Amino acid sequence: MTENRETQLLSDVPDGLFIGGQWRPAEDDATLTVSDPATGDVVKTIASASVADGMAALDAADAAFPAWAATPARERAEILRRAFDLLQERKEQFALLMTIEMGKPLAEARGEVAYGGEFLRWFSEETAHVQGRYGANPEGTGRMIVTQHPVGPCFLITPWNFPLAMATRKIAPALAAGCTVVVKPAALTPLTTLYFAKLLDDAGVPAGVVNVVTTRSSGPLSDAIIADPRLRKLSFTGSTPVGVSLLEKAAKGVLRTSMELGGNAPFVVFDDADLDKAVDGAIAAKFRNIGQACTAANRFIVHRSVADEFARRVTARVAEFRVGRGTEEGVVVGPLIDDRAVAKAHALVTDALDRGATLHAGGSVIEGAGSFYQATVLSDVQAGSEILREEIFGPVLAIVPFDDEDEAVRIANDTEYGLVSYVYTESLARGQRMIERLQTGMMGLNIGVVSNAAAPFGGWKMSGLGREGGAEGIHEYLQTKYTLTPDP
Ligand code: NAD
Repeated sequence: MTENRETQLLSDVPDGLFIGGQWRPAEDDATLTVSDPATGDVVKTIASASVADGMAALDAADAAFPAWAATPARERAEILRRAFDLLQERKEQFALLMTIEMGKPLAEARGEVAYGGEFLRWFSEETAHVQGRYGANPEGTGRMIVTQHPVGPCFLITPWNFPLAMATRKIAPALAAGCTVVVKPAALTPLTTLYFAKLLDDAGVPAGVVNVVTTRSSGPLSDAIIADPRLRKLSFTGSTPVGVSLLEKAAKGVLRTSMELGGNAPFVVFDDADLDKAVDGAIAAKFRNIGQACTAANRFIVHRSVADEFARRVTARVAEFRVGRGTEEGVVVGPLIDDRAVAKAHALVTDALDRGATLHAGGSVIEGAGSFYQATVLSDVQAGSEILREEIFGPVLAIVPFDDEDEAVRIANDTEYGLVSYVYTESLARGQRMIERLQTGMMGLNIGVVSNAAAPFGGWKMSGLGREGGAEGIHEYLQTKYTLTPDP
């Protein structure tokens, strides 16, 4: 029965490129295969775009731009709202599809559909709120008019870890602003984006406004699109090294860019924290998405007086986790995205243990089919361990003790990243000091998950440029014009 449902769903997902409102194979008939990371089985074969296909997608986005930019805001808003409504109707299909291609437990996939959908609703509402201004200049010798304009065709590159939400977080504000887009999802999880393109088509998005190119050749295809002067904006979510190389290329065309890059989130627990709440927050901030989130807590910086108790409590929680394919009831630890991710998590754990950390739970690769790693808890992780510098992207909770507030701040800020931080304290004054002292674009104060469509999501330092969501999100896709006219 379940198998039938999966087979039916997979056959409903288009297997072509979506260009100019048409589904088509790659011009050279190249394909790529998509696997289920819980089993290693190939679940679908789809088109793999060439550079020529990428350029055809840009042609379509460029051709569709003038009409879409001129479409009244209300009409664009209503199309986005229809997309939101259709997503509610198809939410079970989207959740299952993400579990199949990415591995996250079904309950979390449902959470991502809810979160991802909110960007469609939020930006449908923001569409009509883009405003300019008009007024006398201070010298009284003219009138100043300030207007907002869509930047033009955009290239949107998304990662594999949140296949739906990372797409809606870019597509919705771009369309709301009047931009057209070429979307390139990760080759590991392209099916959700293809299925979403079908939904947008059903919602009435005109041909050419959204184009999707799935490909095995991300580098060459992206380079060609970025080098084309018709492109006016690049929005990327992914790792910092790839983001930096894309920024260098985008600089040649002085492209507008938004970069949502890697993180190394500190999770600071003070001795005055409510430990029950801190443990709940830690489980959410660490094990959501099997640790594969840019916002995942990477370093648990815990006051020495409560560090043992914190380790004991999180270890007890981890012992209850069920491991398995995300479609099975009650599973918390699904597979990691691939065997490389498993090897990376294990290398970081091994390095930390070699340098003197204590192992409380896990610490091993789970043998057999699929890419599984045990939920792991380490304490007394020593300075200099790789796990404190690198994004873990796996179910590994690493605890570092501290003695006073200054030391906690120093450790927390000792990273090139600055996406998000989490702080647990019952002291209002200490919480306020942390808001001012921690170098991150977002903070969870006594809460373990911060993402919200109505909030400006984004990082400081090497974690990125620009903001997605909130009132800020649409401005990433708008440019300002100032006009001066003489007095009437
Ligand atoms: P990645 O950088 O390997 O890939 C991201 C995307 O870029 C994929 O679509 C990939 O195909 C594409 N890509 C890879 N090389 C490219 C190239 N040379 N030219 C053009 N495109 C290229 O990252 P990933 O492994 O898919 O995702 C995990 C990373 O994403 C982590 O570092 C995570 O922190 C980050 N992330 C950040 C946010 C955020 O909002 N800040 C959200 C989710 C994930």
